[in-house]
Amino acid sequence: MKLNGNFQNLEQSYLFVTIAKKVNEFTESHPDNQLIRMGIGDVTLPLAPVVIEAMHKATDEMAKKETFRGYSPDSNGYPFLREAIAGYYQSLGVDVEAEEIFVGDGAKSDVGNIVDIFDDANTVLVPDPVYPVYVDTNIMSGRKIVYADANMENGFLPMPKADHPADIIYICSPNNPTGAVYNREQLQAWVDYALDQKAVILFDSAYESFVSPGLPRSIFEIPGAEKCAIEFCSLSKTAGFTGMRCGYTVIRKELCFDGVSVAALWQRRQGSKFNGVNYITQRAAEAVFTPEGIKQTRDAVAYYKRNAGVMVDALRELGYWFTGGENSPYVWFKCPDNMGGWEYFDYLLNEKQIVGTPGEGFGKNGAGCMRLSAFGDAEKTKEAMERIKKG
Ligand code: PLP
Repeated sequence: MKLNGNFQNLEQSYLFVTIAKKVNEFTESHPDNQLIRMGIGDVTLPLAPVVIEAMHKATDEMAKKETFRGYSPDSNGYPFLREAIAGYYQSLGVDVEAEEIFVGDGAKSDVGNIVDIFDDANTVLVPDPVYPVYVDTNIMSGRKIVYADANMENGFLPMPKADHPADIIYICSPNNPTGAVYNREQLQAWVDYALDQKAVILFDSAYESFVSPGLPRSIFEIPGAEKCAIEFCSLSKTAGFTGMRCGYTVIRKELCFDGVSVAALWQRRQGSKFNGVNYITQRAAEAVFTPEGIKQTRDAVAYYKRNAGVMVDALRELGYWFTGGENSPYVWFKCPDNMGGWEYFDYLLNEKQIVGTPGEGFGKNGAGCMRLSAFGDAEKTKEAMERIKKG
């Protein structure tokens, strides 16, 4: 028996371990601290009332013999939820059918598991800085990875280039960690490139609910994307489902390589290794897409966006170079005085009692940058930015 040797090629992720260690040391030596945590990308507001109501109702159904549900008939999601999500796409002007939507337990699983259906000989293109799941899941399969540099020159929005031909292209917009968001023309350039290269785009739209009107929320708003893209979406940030676990992957009927339907392969993969999301959570997810659910969950997103606005205003006042914050819960900025990300992290922790995430943790191009999250409390966010502004 041999273990998968590719695991030896994974880089140790010291980022959150190191942050936790430094924060623990600080809190132990400062028991009466006023620490404000802006490092973690987890939501803090509770679930919307419509979601709670739907869960209570579904729980009651599970308590009665007549309405109890066991295994779901289809691991891809109950029709009521797939149709509700298709309805949401209609509202974006995108004609996705319920059968093209595959419900899962979150974008992380689906983005990670999709690589099962691709040959290991494919070359993968990921942005740098990057959400680490794209890199690690491909290292586990031994694929060659090339990087598209995101930096201040391109506003952390790399565009296709002749010198990085690839078969599998990851795009995350709005981006984690940088908060940068592609416009329609930029996404069209990626779609045209993918079609030309006969590549597939894996489009992570986990933060689509933060996108302001006028910018695309779905890759399928872009003509041609149905023939080259797979979209991964999540209710984690849209509706506070980080602990509930529900997301969906969209694969259009038109997406075929060598005459083989990609949706059919994904269905086969999921049917073999996944038994569906629990009924109560699917009913809760359905509630998110009702008019009341959209309103309530958008109120929570608006709360986080106001926090992001406070952060953006402060950075503008300070004259720091930044991206994100306007269509994203993340603000990404250049550390002052040419400090490295870790150096500035220590400064913020020790002098300002604020926890951020140093850009170094997301790739070489993250060096000297800092990510702050808007998922915290409004008063604490204001207080944190006042502290930073005081210099
Ligand atoms: N994709 C991106 C870009 C993320 O930042 C995250 C979570 O932070 C995920 C996917 C994971 O989402 P989920 O909670 O649906 O697994």
